[in-house]
Amino acid sequence: MSTDTLRQLPSVDHLLSNESVATLVATYGRQQTVEALRESLSLARDEIQDGAAAPDDETLVERAAHHLRTRLSPTLRRVINATGVIIHTNLGRAPLSTAAQAAMEAVSRGYSTLEYDLAAGQRGHRTLHAERLLCELTGAESALVVNNNAGGVLLGLTGLAQGRGVIISRGQLVEIGGGFRIPDVMAQSGARLIEIGTTNRTHRRDYVAALESCQDAALILRAHHSNFRIVGFATEPSLPELAALGAEWSVPVMDDLGSGALLDTTPFGLAHEPTVQESVVAGAAVVCFSADKLLGGPQAGVIVGQARYVDPLKRHPLARALRADKLCLAGLQATLLHYLRDEATAQIPVWRMIATPLAEIEGRARQWRRTLRRRHVPADLLDGASTVGGGSLPGETLPTKLVALPVAHPDQFSAALRAADPPVIARIAENHLVLDPRTVLPEEEQDLLQTITRTLETIKESIDETRPG
Ligand SMILES: *Cc1c(COP(=O)(O)O)cnc(C)c1O
Repeated sequence: MSTDTLRQLPSVDHLLSNESVATLVATYGRQQTVEALRESLSLARDEIQDGAAAPDDETLVERAAHHLRTRLSPTLRRVINATGVIIHTNLGRAPLSTAAQAAMEAVSRGYSTLEYDLAAGQRGHRTLHAERLLCELTGAESALVVNNNAGGVLLGLTGLAQGRGVIISRGQLVEIGGGFRIPDVMAQSGARLIEIGTTNRTHRRDYVAALESCQDAALILRAHHSNFRIVGFATEPSLPELAALGAEWSVPVMDDLGSGALLDTTPFGLAHEPTVQESVVAGAAVVCFSADKLLGGPQAGVIVGQARYVDPLKRHPLARALRADKLCLAGLQATLLHYLRDEATAQIPVWRMIATPLAEIEGRARQWRRTLRRRHVPADLLDGASTVGGGSLPGETLPTKLVALPVAHPDQFSAALRAADPPVIARIAENHLVLDPRTVLPEEEQDLLQTITRTLETIKESIDETRPG
């Protein structure tokens, strides 16, 4: 009897003559559409074997359309970050300034001066675009841009210390996340790890002992602790101390700064995040940092420092393998120009978010609450904390005002918001779904509030009526 039912299923050719299938073919192409129809029919056959009735043509076509939509829509999509984590690595780190976006768009549209000297009418260097600005901003003699900071550290270690020793404190043998571990990168570079001191305490005398006993030390590496903090009984020599020691022994210091702040974080109520300029002044031979953390630009790794150490890295074969692309260089140059024009806190989103005063965030939160309540969504305001993220300033927070939605099932609602278009990434705190205005761009507000209202309607979430509305 199920064989009879199986016979009721149409053929792929029959379905192809369906009018709505013609639209699918026009959108997704014939081959993908045929495959999706086959999948749809195969699913129907399985259901029939299990005793179900044969679905009609319309259902078969709708299922094929669903396959096509899910399979052929992009998975790398814009999301609204309402988590309050400013540099969120999972959500793409730094959003770019309008000028950086425009620069990248302009360069992507056609040809560019990537490696062309307009004045001379001949081949130029891709390295010029951001590097002059980096030197001007950091006070360094030379600069190099690569694909990311992990690449920068690998290039630095390979180019300066391959086959030789690198001295590092045990307290700095860190794992950043995403598989970046200092000892592993060291091994990959072919340099030999010379670990000194202890997890919590490493002294100047530990460095001296290592320099004395190790004949082939090529580098002293200092790595930013990044996403954790050692508190209590802890000490390690400062960068100026290390640089002085290095100068004494003719061993250069490489500083993996991680975040690479170009501005001081203290005026915004945060602890001090070491800046690139400080490392350069302190005498680091080479300083490595990311361009998409506190710098607020596109993904890249920046190496700045003394020309005698940085220039050979530019000619290293690894530099070619790790080179930055034209979109990155265009975005980075535009971002760096904001610093030179003294407009970073107004133009670079990461800094604008850090610099937004609590009163302004509270104003936006009140506005959201008003809009939501007008749409019969009860919302409350809660005191909360935003974080910088991106491995900078661990444990440091910025006071914020959260918009809290007292929904009965925050997990379920949070999943529905992630499934919305555009997806909204929120936080759950004290059994509330909370949204932090600090990381929501002003131009995203309407989308965000509409998504919330629409999502609540569609999943018919039972809002806790017992809470004051
Ligand atoms: C983030 C970080 C890195 C890795 O930088 P990417 O740009 O993600 O490759 C390396 N070192 C430190 C100290 C970091 O904080």
